[in-house]
Amino acid sequence: MRETSEFNIWKIRAEFPMLEQKMHGKPLVYLDSAATTQKPREVIHTLTRFYSEQYATVHRSVYEFASQATARYDDVRIQVKEFLGAAFAEEIVFTKGTTDGINLVANSFGRAFMQPGDEVIISVMEHHSNIVPWQLLCQERGLRLKFIPINARGELLLDEYEKLLTDRTKIVSVAHVSNVTGTINPVEEIIQMAHQRGAKVLIDGAQSIAHMPVDVQALGADFYVFSGHKAYGPTGVGVLYGKRALLDKMPPYQGGGDMIDQVTLEGVTFEQAPLKFEAGTPAIAQVMGLGEALNFIESIGRDRIAAWEQDLLEYAMEKMHQIPGLRIHGTAAKKSGIITFNIDHLHPLDIGTLLDIRGIAIRTGHLCAQPTLRCFNVNATARISFGVHTTFEEIDLFLAALQEVTLLLKPSLSY
Ligand code: PMP
Repeated sequence: MRETSEFNIWKIRAEFPMLEQKMHGKPLVYLDSAATTQKPREVIHTLTRFYSEQYATVHRSVYEFASQATARYDDVRIQVKEFLGAAFAEEIVFTKGTTDGINLVANSFGRAFMQPGDEVIISVMEHHSNIVPWQLLCQERGLRLKFIPINARGELLLDEYEKLLTDRTKIVSVAHVSNVTGTINPVEEIIQMAHQRGAKVLIDGAQSIAHMPVDVQALGADFYVFSGHKAYGPTGVGVLYGKRALLDKMPPYQGGGDMIDQVTLEGVTFEQAPLKFEAGTPAIAQVMGLGEALNFIESIGRDRIAAWEQDLLEYAMEKMHQIPGLRIHGTAAKKSGIITFNIDHLHPLDIGTLLDIRGIAIRTGHLCAQPTLRCFNVNATARISFGVHTTFEEIDLFLAALQEVTLLLKPSLSY
């Protein structure tokens, strides 16, 4: 799909002030949306407008500005419910981000419903934030952590997954899209298989939320988490979707203001979900910014965003496959706009540094997914990832710069 009347890439780009910036005197080519996305003007305006003209707390005070802030904050919850296709606004918990959401579920669900000997299944392609909270929980409660393996293309082996599932499996937690391979996992199938064994499923939506349509009820997910900052929204805010019946049964994870019904010196009763999971003054401005970010995504359309990014992916993959010595980690049949690669013996950090001088921002290092990198026998790697504003021209600029950098670092290599 190239530009159409419904998808005007230049109009979309004009929404992002950061894309007008220069890096080392060169126009910024931002290819790190999987780490964090740039912010559209309206999201920035929402934050500054709220702080300069509307600022007040929520759920506490009766004065005009506080009532308005509370109404707007609660409206975003309804908006997120609709964006995710959830059944009730009460199923939407505001968190600090994906990591916070997973920790919440591991701690609350884990403590309430898991006994020594029970099992948690994750995959070998998870971000550290979908590994470490489960490791901590398993150590603390004497649980078993099991891992779904992947093939050489970076696809989950569902036959192996089937074998891992037992009656002791209480929760399966997997990424919708891998931040290393870009693999779009068959989460619907994964969820159905888990449900047949009575296990619940958490979907880490950090890399899917801003790049494809997501409907949590159609997927059948018990939990779905994402970060605002990877969906064109502010940092410091995220969402945990949880089925109402589950959230109702889960105990609070943190204690504090806003999450209580009654407190005496002898004891406490709690608010209903979602408030029982939102202890303390929330990230009010960020929640409003998140609402605006979701408006931005909806104004373009998630189908159109997915189609645009798929075209970019095909274009970039084809060109990168032709580069001698370049290995792409992740060639799944279903893949989103993330390409992780190494070039022969070049260090990714050198590649990243030399691209930076040319105005090109990419991710280098272990991508917070060391076990995934080990599957591809590398310790460090380089990654480009696309956003709705990425252009074919930017991919060409990246490829030209990569060729230059490669020759510079390895003069014997010829194209
Ligand atoms: N899961 C995946 C798949 C991710 O890509 C990331 C961020 N790179 C996270 C979880 C963690 O997100 P955050 O740091 O915003 O909590």
